[in-house]
Amino acid sequence: GHLLEKHRMTLADLESDVVLVARDLLPSDMISMNRARVKAVVTEAGGRTSHVAILARAFEIPAVLGVADALSRLRGSSLVAVDGAKGLVIGDPDAATLTRSAAARDAAAAAERELGALRDLPAETIDGLRVKVEANIEMPEEALGVLAHGADGIGLFRSEFLFLGGHVPDEEEQFHAYRSVIEAMGGRTVTIRTLDIGGDKVLPELGAQDEKNPLLGWRAIRFCLSRVDVFKTQLRAILRAAAFGETRVMFPMIATADELERALAILETAREECAAAGQQVAKSLSVGIMIEIPSAAMTSDILARKADFFSIGTNDLIQYTMAVDRGNEKVAYLHEPYHPAVLRLVQRTIESGKAAGIPVGMCGEMAADPASAIVLLGLGLDEFSMSSAAVPAVKRAIRSIGIEEARAVAK
Ligand code: PEP
Ligand code: MG
Repeated sequence: GHLLEKHRMTLADLESDVVLVARDLLPSDMISMNRARVKAVVTEAGGRTSHVAILARAFEIPAVLGVADALSRLRGSSLVAVDGAKGLVIGDPDAATLTRSAAARDAAAAAERELGALRDLPAETIDGLRVKVEANIEMPEEALGVLAHGADGIGLFRSEFLFLGGHVPDEEEQFHAYRSVIEAMGGRTVTIRTLDIGGDKVLPELGAQDEKNPLLGWRAIRFCLSRVDVFKTQLRAILRAAAFGETRVMFPMIATADELERALAILETAREECAAAGQQVAKSLSVGIMIEIPSAAMTSDILARKADFFSIGTNDLIQYTMAVDRGNEKVAYLHEPYHPAVLRLVQRTIESGKAAGIPVGMCGEMAADPASAIVLLGLGLDEFSMSSAAVPAVKRAIRSIGIEEARAVAK
C-alpha cells in the first residue's frame, strides 16, 4: 500500500452500517473492525466454536458461520437479514420477511429484558445447591457487560486477544489491563488464562506463524514454555495485578504433568523477580489448568495433585477427541458435545476434581447451552463460564431444577 501510495481500506474504516460477508475472517479482524458499524457477520468458513463466532457473541453481533457460497449468493443484495439464533441468512428479504425479522428481533429483546430480572439472583437449584455462573471475556472493556448480565465473576479471560489487535503489549500495559478488569469486578473472581496464541491465533510479531498443522502445533502453553521471556512478562503482570483483587491464573492446553510443573516453576521465578524489584504482588494466587486435551482429561487424577482448579475447555476437548477442526464447516457435525466419548472425559475430569477436593468448571461453549448445563450440573460441575449474554438463560435453567433430577438427566 505504501509503495503504490494507495490507501488500503480496512474494517476499522467502515463508515456506514454493514452486514459483513466474507469467505473467512481472522480473530484479529474481529478485534480491529469498527464494531459499531457491523450489524451482522456471515462467513463461508467456520463453526459455532471458532474464535470468530466466540468474538461475535462477546460483542453481541448476530453471526452465522459456515454458510456455503455466501459470497456468490449474496452478491448484489442491498439488504440482508441475519438471525444468529436460528442460523438464517436471507438476501433481499421481501416485505413479509422483513416484518417477521423485526418481530423476532423485538421478541428476543423482550425475552432478554425478562431474563434481566435474574441478574441479582444466585445460580442455585430449587433444593439449594449453589454453583457459579461466570463470564468469558476477550477484551477488558467487556467487564461492564459481565456485571450487567449478573455473572458471578470471570471464569475465562482470554488474554491473548490483548495481543491480537496489531500491537504486542509490554508488562506495564498488561498490568494495567488486568488490573482494570480485576478492579471493575469489585471482589468477584477473575480467572486470567495465560497466552493461548498459535493455532488460528497467529502472531508473527512473536514468532507464532501459520504452521502445517496449526491446531496440533506450537500453541498456548507449548509456545509459552519455549518463549519464557514472553511468558514471564505476562506472569509478572498478572501477579502484580492480582494484588488488587480476587484473581486466579490458568494455563491452556496442558497435555502432561511435566508441562504443568514447568509452568509452575516459571511462575515462581516470575514471583521472585517481582519481589527482587520490590513490586507488590498477590500473596497467594490460585493456579489452575484448562482440561482441553484428552490426555489431560484421562490423567486428570494426576494433574489434580498440582492444580488448584480445573476448567474444561470443550471447544478444544471435542476438537481433539473427535479429530475435528472446530473451524471447518464441512465436518462441523462431528463437533458434538453429547458424544459419549466427550461426556465420559467430562465426567472423568469432574470425578478427579471431586476426589482431589478442587473445583471443576467449564468455559467451553457447551456450558453456555441451558440444556447442557442441566447435564453438567447433574455430573457435578461447580462452575459454568460463558459469554456474558448467555449467563441469564443458564442461570434460569439451573434455578429451574433440583439436583436429583439433574443427576437423573445426566444418567
Ligand atoms: C475451549 O477450548 O473450550 C476454550 C474455552 O478455549 P478457547 O475457545 O479459547 O480455545
Ligand atoms: Mg481452548
